[in-house]
Amino acid sequence: MSHAIVETEEHHDLRAAVAALGGRYGREYFTSVVRDGKHTDELWAEAGKLGYLGVNLPEEFGGGGGGITELAIVLEELGACGCPLLMMVVSPAICGTVIARFGTDAQKRAWLPGLAAGTTKMAFGITEPDAGSNSHRLTTTARRDGDDWILTGRKVFVSGVDIADATLVVGRTEDARTGRLKPCLFIVGRDAPGFSRRRIAMELAAPEKQFELVLDEVRLPADALVGDEDAGLLQLFAGLNPERVMTAAFAIGMGRYAVTRAVDYARTRAVWDRPIGAHQAIAHPLAQAHIELELARLMTQKAASLYDAGDDAGAGEAANMAKYAAGEAAVHAVDQAVHTLGGNGLTSEYGLASLITAARVARVAPVSREMILNYVSHQTLGLPKSY
Ligand SMILES: Cc1cc2nc3c(=O)[nH]c(=O)nc-3n(C[C@H](O)[C@H](O)[C@H](O)COP(=O)(O)OP(=O)(O)OC[C@H]3O[C@@H](n4cnc5c(N)ncnc54)[C@H](O)[C@@H]3O)c2cc1C
Repeated sequence: MSHAIVETEEHHDLRAAVAALGGRYGREYFTSVVRDGKHTDELWAEAGKLGYLGVNLPEEFGGGGGGITELAIVLEELGACGCPLLMMVVSPAICGTVIARFGTDAQKRAWLPGLAAGTTKMAFGITEPDAGSNSHRLTTTARRDGDDWILTGRKVFVSGVDIADATLVVGRTEDARTGRLKPCLFIVGRDAPGFSRRRIAMELAAPEKQFELVLDEVRLPADALVGDEDAGLLQLFAGLNPERVMTAAFAIGMGRYAVTRAVDYARTRAVWDRPIGAHQAIAHPLAQAHIELELARLMTQKAASLYDAGDDAGAGEAANMAKYAAGEAAVHAVDQAVHTLGGNGLTSEYGLASLITAARVARVAPVSREMILNYVSHQTLGLPKSY
């Protein structure tokens, strides 16, 4: 793929360098890690050392001083090598961004150097069993007790809590004047008393596991609150836009990996007198998948550059559209790639079938396809709400 029009020479070099790292690990590494129930520790550590995991974080705290544009490049290229690192979506992108933008100096010093180097990981918990797509129904609640906070609630599907040093939990505090609940972000240490997790069995071949969390009167010090108690929603979206951009990059990388494998196969596999890739019924859907991935990436680049330019509102719409387009493109690309390999598409040797479930994650998380269509219907097109 050519990147010259919308990306700088530096971006191009970053892509090439990350692809070289990813290429040294490759799909076999990733699948063997998953098979053995391990984590991608070696790749994560090396990417951290090379500065790739913190490219978006401030230089002052050990980061690369870039933006979500650069971090998305890293994730996409690793994914295109068969190594999509889901924790990049949460640890440096959401948690790192929120702390860098809204944290106190002490919080920045405590967390950012580790997040940038990859030696510290942070999970992110917003989804609740009874709220799901409707974040207005979040009930995890924080109340003050002297200087401390007491946090109580439940979360579900939170990724990587077992390997994260802490989880950034979205709770709500009661507005003293109106009694209404306002969203707030709290850093909860992995071993905080009252904080427990239960692994959810998933049909997903990924090193990162998902957890249900119970917060039972978890006592947190005053400085567990990130940012301003009264600016909750704004701060939350400052973290959620990078999450959408990064999920798009995650999906595009995976889709590229699948198309590349399918194209390699279709070039040489011949069951009649020519390679199957010469049949347009095989070639055209792969060409279409490639086009859809390119288009999704263009939108992702737009969203990332709006975000990096400080346009949170503009980035919101673009990031939703990018996540939608990338999720759909990845699902189509993987489906066609698996089909291209015939029976081999379902073998462990070729390792493509496991991407069928993995690609669908990008369609439902962090916000589902339907909720983005709702958003565009209401916010962009001005249509009335059905709910
Ligand atoms: C692998 C994986 C990792 C995840 N990691 C995290 C994480 O790290 N942290 C975290 O907080 N969460 C995480 N999630 C949760 C994810 O963000 C949620 O699954 C997602 O937001 C959807 O919520 P839900 O599952 O409750 O679905 P629901 O909200 O119950 O929705 C079910 C279906 O109904 C549709 N629907 C709902 N409301 C409407 C409507 N008004 N109009 C039309 N359709 C509607 C949805 O689109 C969806 O198809 C993860 C999920 C997965 C699968």
